[in-house]
Amino acid sequence: MAKPLNILFVSSEVDPFAKTGGLADVSAALPQKIKESEHEIRVMMPRYGSINERKAKLHEMLRLKEIEVPVGQKMHKASVRSSFIVNNTIKVQVYFIDNPGYFGRQGLYVHPDSKKDYHDNDERFIFFSRGVLEVLKKLGWRPDIIHCNDWQTGLIPAYLKTLYKDDPFYRDTKSVLTIHNMAYQGIFPKSSFAKTLLPAELYSIDGIEAYGHMNLLKCGLVFSDAITTVSERYAQEIRSSEEYGAGLEGVVNKRKSSLTGILNGADYSVWDPSVDELIPVRYDARTLDQKLENKKALLSKMGLPFDPRIPVIGIISRLADQKGFDLIGEALDQLMKTDLQLAVLGTGEKKYHDLFEKAQRKFPKKVAVSLTFNNDLAHLIEAGSDMFLMPSRYEPCGLNQMYSLRYGTIPIVRATGGLDDTIEDVQGSSGTGFKFKEYDSGEMLKAIHRAVTAFKDQILWRKLMKYGMAKDFSWEASAKKYVQLYRSLART
Ligand code: ADP
Repeated sequence: MAKPLNILFVSSEVDPFAKTGGLADVSAALPQKIKESEHEIRVMMPRYGSINERKAKLHEMLRLKEIEVPVGQKMHKASVRSSFIVNNTIKVQVYFIDNPGYFGRQGLYVHPDSKKDYHDNDERFIFFSRGVLEVLKKLGWRPDIIHCNDWQTGLIPAYLKTLYKDDPFYRDTKSVLTIHNMAYQGIFPKSSFAKTLLPAELYSIDGIEAYGHMNLLKCGLVFSDAITTVSERYAQEIRSSEEYGAGLEGVVNKRKSSLTGILNGADYSVWDPSVDELIPVRYDARTLDQKLENKKALLSKMGLPFDPRIPVIGIISRLADQKGFDLIGEALDQLMKTDLQLAVLGTGEKKYHDLFEKAQRKFPKKVAVSLTFNNDLAHLIEAGSDMFLMPSRYEPCGLNQMYSLRYGTIPIVRATGGLDDTIEDVQGSSGTGFKFKEYDSGEMLKAIHRAVTAFKDQILWRKLMKYGMAKDFSWEASAKKYVQLYRSLART
């Protein structure tokens, strides 16, 4: 039998330590699932100032202090803390790369007040990427695979192929890059390139340069040994047009033989109403009546009147253009003519904060909004809503539609990316959700009206809920696909 592999999973966010979106959920759940196999997997992330030392149970690693990491012409010091992702009997080691100058701040990528990107994000993630490789050597733990995620780690494959190419420690190390979102590319001015210390010839159209800038996602796409993205549909979409490829469709096409779509999974130890510790009343498909108690609790918490006959549509999202909320802006008045309530949780761009605040002011009995990041409320919305709306312009995978299914909260989604891959349109009495194709507010309204009509027939509705709750989007199958990919790379 082939020997077990050592896999390092590198991510800029990992739940529960630091999270802005789905990447954090994936970075916690996938390593746990892989750890159940015979392989060894460990995780590395930055040690942000927002991570609470005590809550996260961070331990200093005395051996790993004062590690020198060059960024441009300066040496910076990295030290390492460690903790674990713990779930029943599974424990995954997490290393936190620490440099207070770069990471001792509250935000991950943007200043929490101004919402502006930190001015030194180039240096922060150059330091992190180079730091990962220096720390591993000091640690003496040699990975067969370094699994990188998104632009924040895009330099690692390039370092392995250049500065560390002749380093015996990394002789057999292969890299994988997973794209969680093509639209976030880590674009910096040309002048930032010198700070990477990569050979000058890499700053070219075949390397790290795109449209006159340094582009860290492109760097990862060019130099990684394999590329994955988080649904099969999105893997096709990002090759098909500028809209989805965000200008890097040509680069992805060049590497199409190395690209696979592997659907994200749902971690049912966290997102399942029968075990969820963050909701008032637990339930499953046999005790569906209990869901109503959660609906009551949600509406009371958000200050909306309770009426079991009126469907509640939940929204939990980053408020970014990608997520399609301009359609709600367009359709709001029409939408509010229907008997329904909206429970919205999200943070992000000011224009969407304004939009939802205005909606709440105009329709106080029908719309409740919390413009915060609040994990407890996210769980309550999943449990207490009847429907869940994701009108995304594009969606690499999307997690909340899968979570919603398990909570008997029927998704209404635009048929794009992972939303299209995971939701079957309701036809008659079968299907898991209500889909619309065109990115158009009228189409969205039609889908919502179909859902509201179906809700009136409670026998049908229960049937749909149960059908969705029985769907299995656990990580099992996808984790196997990653392991197969690691294996095939390690053999080459
Ligand atoms: P994306 O990664 O594009 O943000 P996903 O659907 O893949 O979208 O994942 C979103 C994750 O972030 C889910 O776990 C969701 O519950 C969570 N989330 C998003 N916004 C909030 C918020 N304001 N408060 C709490 N959780 C949130």
